Amino acid sequence: MSTAFRVQSSEFLVPDFQDLQGQICEATKDQVATALKKPILSLIDLAAILSPAAEELLPRMAARSRELTAMRFGRTTQIYAPLYLSSYCVNRCAYCGFAADNKIPRRKLTAHEAEQEAEILRERGFQHILLVTGEAPAKAGIDYLEEVALRLKNKFAALSIEVQPLEQDEYERLFKAGITAVAVYQETYDRRVYDQVHLAGKKCDYDFRLDTPARAAAAGMREIGIGALLGLADWRCEGLVLGMHLAWLRKHFWKTNFTVSFPRLRPAAGEFEPMVEVSEKHLSQLIFALRIFDPDVGLILSTREEARYRDGMLGLGPTRYSAGSCTAPGGYSSDDHDGEQFSVGDHRSITEVCSVIADKGFDPVCKDWDKEFQM
Ligand code: SF4
Repeated sequence: MSTAFRVQSSEFLVPDFQDLQGQICEATKDQVATALKKPILSLIDLAAILSPAAEELLPRMAARSRELTAMRFGRTTQIYAPLYLSSYCVNRCAYCGFAADNKIPRRKLTAHEAEQEAEILRERGFQHILLVTGEAPAKAGIDYLEEVALRLKNKFAALSIEVQPLEQDEYERLFKAGITAVAVYQETYDRRVYDQVHLAGKKCDYDFRLDTPARAAAAGMREIGIGALLGLADWRCEGLVLGMHLAWLRKHFWKTNFTVSFPRLRPAAGEFEPMVEVSEKHLSQLIFALRIFDPDVGLILSTREEARYRDGMLGLGPTRYSAGSCTAPGGYSSDDHDGEQFSVGDHRSITEVCSVIADKGFDPVCKDWDKEFQM
């Protein structure tokens, strides 16, 4: 995979949220209706369908989103599970149970223990796993991640990571070790709020994080996941900037697949309360808007959301669901879930989730990639 392109510094610029809010709130119902008829939407159209005026046309947005999802992805829903490797973290993110100042039991799996946890997931039917760590390079650095990846790569169809932002050459190493996808969420694109909630650690560097998806794509990763943690800043503006970031990444890395996640804040250790409320109705509007704006993007709905909501959204926009998730290292081989990053909203097993998907006339897809395609 070519790595000639080196990402040096932030080339993607994020507009001020107050300016974006003004643009979004100015949109009229007529502009929304016009945008919904277009085959290709501009960023101005995306602002319109994220606006308060679009709420009246939500059923039309749902129908358009469902139509585009069926056209591009068929009647399928991909399935994956997170595997938490380590809960150590040197950062202090105000909203997270793993934050360095939270007094929780911490654990890092050995490479052998990680293999055992992965084996449990494999026996349950998972073929795509997402390896997750807190951000503590001294505990779970590149050597450790590489060792885990090498042990797992022949056992799974796809291995993704959600770990500390890395340098491009480190992503290149992990790609060679069998990691094919990287998820890195900006948490919030609102720089002012970002500075308020990231209290200590390397994560305070907004620009380094913002450049991470580009570094991972330049390293040759097959798929990059971006997202915003909903509950920190205006969700309509986050949605518009997600669309801008996605469009920028597509322009520069046209060979790469992209996904967008919509994590809403969940209860976690610490006393953080969401700074803004994001209702299920607004989450749905955001998901429909991103689907209509970019019909090819994979949209992920995790077990942060409750079963009722996830079941209702099947086929309407999301294309990938997690299932049977535990957010504490070692949680699959033990009933002790102390030290979770957050508590999940959907506690069903992979079998239960897959049977609901099948009952609704969709195919649950556990394997959607093979390393032989990687040549
Ligand atoms: S969000 Fe990530 S970086 Fe921040 S405290 Fe939690 S694990 Fe650490």
